[in-house]
Amino acid sequence: MHTKTIAQLAQGLKNKDFSSVELTQHYLNRINASDLNAFITITDESAMTQAKIADGKIAKGETSILTGIPYAHKDIFCTNGVKTSAGSKMLDNFIAPYDSTVSHQLNQADMVMLGKTNMDEFAMGSSTENSYYGATLNPWNTHKVPGGSSGGSATAVAGRLTPFATGTDTGGSIRQPASLCGITGIKPTYGRVSRYGMIAYASSLDQAGPMTQTAEDAALTLNVMAGFDDKDSTSAQRDVEDYTANLNDPIKGITIGIPKEFFSDGLNDGVASQIMAAVKEFEAMGATVKEISLPNSAYAIPTYYIVAPCECSSNLSRMDGVRFGHRCDNPKDLEDLYVRSRTEGFGGEVKRRIMVGAYALSAGYYDAYYLKAQKIRHLISDDFKKSFTEVDVIMGPVSPTTAWDLGAIKDPVAMYLADIYTLSANLAGLPAMSIPAGLSQKMPVGLQLIGNYWSESKLLNVAHQFQQQTDHHTKTP
Ligand code: GLN
Repeated sequence: MHTKTIAQLAQGLKNKDFSSVELTQHYLNRINASDLNAFITITDESAMTQAKIADGKIAKGETSILTGIPYAHKDIFCTNGVKTSAGSKMLDNFIAPYDSTVSHQLNQADMVMLGKTNMDEFAMGSSTENSYYGATLNPWNTHKVPGGSSGGSATAVAGRLTPFATGTDTGGSIRQPASLCGITGIKPTYGRVSRYGMIAYASSLDQAGPMTQTAEDAALTLNVMAGFDDKDSTSAQRDVEDYTANLNDPIKGITIGIPKEFFSDGLNDGVASQIMAAVKEFEAMGATVKEISLPNSAYAIPTYYIVAPCECSSNLSRMDGVRFGHRCDNPKDLEDLYVRSRTEGFGGEVKRRIMVGAYALSAGYYDAYYLKAQKIRHLISDDFKKSFTEVDVIMGPVSPTTAWDLGAIKDPVAMYLADIYTLSANLAGLPAMSIPAGLSQKMPVGLQLIGNYWSESKLLNVAHQFQQQTDHHTKTP
């Protein structure tokens, strides 16, 4: 059962080949037997209750396509009555008192939550090694990282512990772990999926999306996750399309842009050759390929690593041991309470970013760092705007390398370099995807697709057509 896609599982439930209770129990057994550390919390009991309710609805024919389908939820989404830790000691004892909008929407669709997945602390990282709950392992090779920050979700889907997991992507955290684990993931246009109840890292960049085996499954689940939400002031007042409607459109005649900056020296040869082979496949399918330039993408890393820490230093100020988060024992005064609670509650990478952000926002340095970064952010968006007058979709690698060994990257700046190809789409707010494009030295390579604003449907169509012609997405560890 666990090798099936959501589309196939939905058919199986409808045909009564198995019940949601059987399906849910099957995945829970797999999760409990797995040693990949993909989950922080397993919600066995409530999952079985939800599955029973779903089976009741299926029996009465009161179903949506996702009724009774199990999923795993990144532990950054508030889930009513369930621990929501964001991978941090700070929130180790936090039981969310309400549902995030995404959780609410998945509940409304009668999906079954299996548990909450592991992640880099407050979504800061590219390897899921920054979790208070220990690193998640890559199912393709358990000595390697799954990518991050949504590494628990990526491992859970790739390890077939769930057919679908949620992720969030501030600078690549859906696409990069999807790439390193050989699954499909889409970060929608900023504002498409509500951020309400999603613990904020960098609010102007954060965006949630689905992680699945196939583009078709991503379309099915994005249909439920997307939508306007008046509880999120940056949510877009725009109708949600049916993302499955155009999956089968022919892609003959589309123009694919290949940014020359995405094929520079730092790109691993094995990755580059898989990407070029995928682009050739698109040419064979009738697409035209054109070289383009995104000249300011070279500044994506320094720009992002100013903007994101600035926003996080503000967002995480609420974790003070009073309003939210871990509180130290026996504080001697208020100052001591703040200092010790935050010292004990946050891990090293989170502290580094809070300090960088607070420094860059300080009166003497604001113009030199934050304001400058915002200006460059604009230039990065303009590069894309110009490109999308000439091409329909931009393609390139997601990550300069395949998954690396656990513990191999110790220098934080070296870790930031892994984000070179993903950050620009977040800075511009554009939708972007990772789809499996084969293996290099037995590890998965992801192809990145970047689209114009609100072109999720086009991206999913292009990805689905590729998956009809190739079998990379069917490969399992
Ligand atoms: N690796 C990037 C960071 O650490 C992106 C993380 C993310 O998208 N949440 O900030």
